[in-house]
Amino acid sequence: MEAIELNGRSYRVPTRPTVVICADGCDPSYLEAGLEAGVLPTIARWRESGFYALADAAMPTFTNPNNLSIVTGAPPALHGISGNFALDRSSGAEIMMTDPEMVRGETILALMSRAGVPTAAITAKDKLRRMLGRGLDIGRTGICFSSEQADRCTLAEHGIEGVEALVGRAAPDMYSADLSLFVLDSGIRLVEQERARLLYLSLSDYVQHGHAPDEPEALAFHRALDERFARLEELGCVVAVTADHGMNDKALPDGNPHVLFLEDILNAQLGAGAVRVICPITDPFVRHHGALGSFVRVYRKADVPLTTLADRVRALPGIDTVLTREEASARYQLPYDREADLVVTGDRNTVIGASAAEHDLAVLAGHRLRSHGGAYEQTVPFLLSHKLTPDYRLLSQSQRLRNFAIFEFALSGVTP
Ligand SMILES: [Zn+2]
Repeated sequence: MEAIELNGRSYRVPTRPTVVICADGCDPSYLEAGLEAGVLPTIARWRESGFYALADAAMPTFTNPNNLSIVTGAPPALHGISGNFALDRSSGAEIMMTDPEMVRGETILALMSRAGVPTAAITAKDKLRRMLGRGLDIGRTGICFSSEQADRCTLAEHGIEGVEALVGRAAPDMYSADLSLFVLDSGIRLVEQERARLLYLSLSDYVQHGHAPDEPEALAFHRALDERFARLEELGCVVAVTADHGMNDKALPDGNPHVLFLEDILNAQLGAGAVRVICPITDPFVRHHGALGSFVRVYRKADVPLTTLADRVRALPGIDTVLTREEASARYQLPYDREADLVVTGDRNTVIGASAAEHDLAVLAGHRLRSHGGAYEQTVPFLLSHKLTPDYRLLSQSQRLRNFAIFEFALSGVTP
């Protein structure tokens, strides 16, 4: 077999190691700051001798929807994962969107693994692991684990054991830069030992949530990424890097988060219990962001006309867009059956919460809030270690790139 087809894209079966990296929260401004500071020599070189452009992430600009888009080459309307957290319309339950059963269709990783290509998916956070590993031929050609739980891998469940020994250090703390570096170092070991030919390495945005692009912690982290990119190149890999979303400052001049508690505001205006607001950024890693992002879903719990509701939201400061279920599904290519009555996004400097009682702002520990979720965090880097073929160069110039085209470009868009 020379290529596999999925969701209208064709992926050449790799003959040399090919590594796709989702640098979580890597707003292009982090690369610009690192290049300016001279700490990203590999990326600087690839911009000249490989390929670099800006691409649009999928909406909402959260981790799970974009990771699933990257591994399916398609928007959330096709794979069904439209948030990290959701209200299930059929049961009314509020659930994490981490169950592999919720993913619709196949992933590129699963098809490659089942076609006999040694394939590895390594994530920082375990919340993504089972969805990314869905359909992989674990134990034969598939390996899938998280650095968060690298100390408990088994051949039966993860297709690998002894990961700490492999990498040469203990599984990292979940609130650390090493959660991401451990993912990259694991991938490097698997390439060195020829245990994987197609790799998807998905990092954590812990550093970007806490630090602006020019802060020493951010520069040191991206320098560490660059060093690992160099090692992958040295091993003969094609390397492709994109991000699931960008990152913006969402704090007021006094340092407090710039937040609208939308459920509190609307229920004060329309009556207690009139609406429920769901924050799809919610995940167990609350210390990053206090579950505050720039995209929320509003569900009517009482008989409130939709136009009244939309007008009330539009009148608030800091709101970017207010879309109905139909409009949001069409504009952002979201699964209609899982969409809310209204979708609301915040502007560059604004996050939207549900009720104040649900968000623990103390977790920010004095940091300015940096977060994502809306259209202002949609621009991400799209970087390749190798030059594009003439066909793909033309394609890149004729349309706005999407981050979820990265596997196609890495596998089919460079000279094999
Ligand atoms: Zn993310």
